[in-house]
Amino acid sequence: MPELPEVESVRRRLAPVLEGRSLDHVEISDARLTRPDDPDLVARELEGEQVAAVDRRGKYLIVRFESERALLVHLRMTGSFRHGPEGALPEDPHRRAVVRLDDRSDVAYRDVRRFGTWLLLEPGELEPYLDARVGPEPLEAAFTAKELGKRLASRKAPIKATILDQRTLAGVGNIYADEALWRARIHPLREARSLEPTEVRALHKAIRKALEVGIARQGSTLRDYALPDGGSGGMQHEFKVYGRAGEPCERCGTPIEKIRIAGRGTWYCPACQPSPLDLAGRRPA
Ligand SMILES: [Zn+2]
Repeated sequence: MPELPEVESVRRRLAPVLEGRSLDHVEISDARLTRPDDPDLVARELEGEQVAAVDRRGKYLIVRFESERALLVHLRMTGSFRHGPEGALPEDPHRRAVVRLDDRSDVAYRDVRRFGTWLLLEPGELEPYLDARVGPEPLEAAFTAKELGKRLASRKAPIKATILDQRTLAGVGNIYADEALWRARIHPLREARSLEPTEVRALHKAIRKALEVGIARQGSTLRDYALPDGGSGGMQHEFKVYGRAGEPCERCGTPIEKIRIAGRGTWYCPACQPSPLDLAGRRPA
């Protein structure tokens, strides 16, 4: 699933394409994309809207219109965009929507697994919708180590599950959770509330670093992720632990192990990221 770095990379490519343009014609061919709203009705409502800005919040893309309405897009598993001159995009059996812009170019939305969503929100609806679903942006200055610590303090769940919860912080998914925990040398099964202040600070720094490296590489190309110009990201070549079971940890050489946490494959270094049981044995109660 695209996470913050992937969605941010898409946003950076989509913004110059969309900003200032009007939506001349919109075709939505998959009712799942807009349900429970009727796809044709949503398409008619979008026509004539002029794009003011393309923003991101967590894993959501936000197309803000001059009318102060917003189209909230979630790519879920396999959603992606393609941009090209009018009529020039190749046939695609997984195309779910096409937006024709007033500069005679097309933005197409493709989604193999069809879990992605488009939600048209009226003025004033966006902020409450997002506030109910996503916590702070991890790369913003307001997200301090202290703020992270507050959000972990009462949580008994494993730290990995806690940082995957979008209400703890926005945008971290399975890949960047594993990468951040490795960087912070924290075992993914540690109880969130058991982290020492120094560990919280290390994790805060590690989350930011993992996300920043991901953005610098324009995301990771796994499954169907692609940028709007058809290009791909390179982060998959830089993973420290994700998907690397049996390969040596780059810090200590110990083979990376894989376990499952909350149903998600989880990779970590058993030497650099000591298990909660080992820590319990070593520390006075
Ligand atoms: Zn290691």
